[in-house]
Amino acid sequence: MQIVRNSLETNRGPADWFTGTVFIDAIVAAPTAPSRVAAASVHFTPGARTAWHTHPLGQTIWVTEGVGLCQREGGPVERIGPGDRVTFAPGESHWHGAAPDRFMTHVAIHEADDAGSTVTWGEHVTDEQYGAAAQGRR
Ligand code: MN
Repeated sequence: MQIVRNSLETNRGPADWFTGTVFIDAIVAAPTAPSRVAAASVHFTPGARTAWHTHPLGQTIWVTEGVGLCQREGGPVERIGPGDRVTFAPGESHWHGAAPDRFMTHVAIHEADDAGSTVTWGEHVTDEQYGAAAQGRR
């Protein structure tokens, strides 16, 4: 057993990967072999969201607070809330974030591939894509 006290700083989500203001608290900052799992608590301010991205070995997000939105490429935008778990298949392009008028926090759990990568980032979710997502979803 190892207890790691609350020693890591909260980091801002980089603008290359996120739209809006996002804060990230590491849970498992980096896998220690043979483990491949990494995890973080991600806090999205209203309107903030990830860019489109994929995870080589998939991902589970577990919403702990607020109201969020998520979408896989080609699918509808889905509204998510506390207790909801969303799994994304390996290589499935998707995004996740807060609703326009609500904060959202989720725990994200994902595994690193043989190269140590947990995510491949793509284009930002445009305001048009996000705005369409938010229509009539209050
Ligand atoms: Mn993801």
